[in-house]
Amino acid sequence: MVVLGIESTAHTASVGIVDEAARVVALASDMHRPERGGIHPREAANHHVEVLPQLVRRALDEGRVRPSEVDAVAFAQGPGLGPCLRAGATVARMLSMAWRRPLVPVNHCVAHVEIARVLSGLDDPILLYASGGNTQVIAHARGRYRVLGETLDVGIGNFLDKLWIEFGGKFPGGPAMEREALEGQELHALPYSVHGMDVAFSGMMTAAIALHARGASRPDLAYSVEVTAYAMLTEITERALAHLRGEGVVLGGGVACNERLRGMVRSMVEGRGGTMFAPPRSLCVDNGAMIAWTGLLAHRSGISVPVGASAVEPRQRTDLVATPWRPGTSFPRPSASLVPPRAAP
Ligand code: AMP
Ligand code: MG
Repeated sequence: MVVLGIESTAHTASVGIVDEAARVVALASDMHRPERGGIHPREAANHHVEVLPQLVRRALDEGRVRPSEVDAVAFAQGPGLGPCLRAGATVARMLSMAWRRPLVPVNHCVAHVEIARVLSGLDDPILLYASGGNTQVIAHARGRYRVLGETLDVGIGNFLDKLWIEFGGKFPGGPAMEREALEGQELHALPYSVHGMDVAFSGMMTAAIALHARGASRPDLAYSVEVTAYAMLTEITERALAHLRGEGVVLGGGVACNERLRGMVRSMVEGRGGTMFAPPRSLCVDNGAMIAWTGLLAHRSGISVPVGASAVEPRQRTDLVATPWRPGTSFPRPSASLVPPRAAP
């Protein structure tokens, strides 16, 4: 079985092809990089519309896959930016109709877990999902993926990006800050904001900007911000691991490319006798392969949607998504009040 997956939730348009052994047969991605400032949903969507047809072609060529060999077309249904989601969903619908193959909706956050889960070999890991817009600790419990903790304000990646721009740098800030932090020497005290299983970054943002204005060096600030923010993420992940008596932790999201974060989580998990796994960078960041793989799991469990019922769901909640491929899953219908409003296709 071979599934083609389309990712377009935010700044990255990506097409992946994956087979039944979770082998990434092909992966073609293109990230929208705004000249200045953050991403504008409509501009990112225009970018996706422009590049997706070529990415589909590139993925098929690279994987030497003929359209007739594709068993299903999966797409990221949500959560994400509406216009961006619609760009990917439109391409997926067209391929599904042209190739006469089932259309499979996939939750973006669940896809981060599933690709890390299969690559790690861990059966039931906890995911620390640290990306631009999302910062969540996710685990499977009683039939669904549950968000056990998350950011109360901005995503960690957006926080790093914005701060870096305040310091005079350019988007994306995370990787640049990682390099500069290696030269940091002095650890400035910054607000450490953990509330139970949740974290918040706005206090640290204000404090770091104020220190910068008072002349604190950028390497020292980069170092201090990394150490403080990643300690917060490590703490909530540890709490989840302790409560669930989990076997291990997997990482996902662009910020999970960061070596300091990987190291801090690894030493925490290994200190508790567990296993930590971080996928290769190309599969940590947003990518079509994770959508394809999760689509394959869903398709094998009989999940598909008619084109007419394939509306994107910008606010799709992780814990409202059925996961019948995981044993022990029962999926009672959520009460109507819990179902977020559906966006137009
Ligand atoms: P995503 O939203 O998952 O595609 O990830 C994008 C985010 O990851 C951006 O906010 C980047 O600044 C951040 N990022 C990428 N690489 C690194 C890194 N090495 N360290 C910290 N943040 C990173
Ligand atoms: Mg993501």
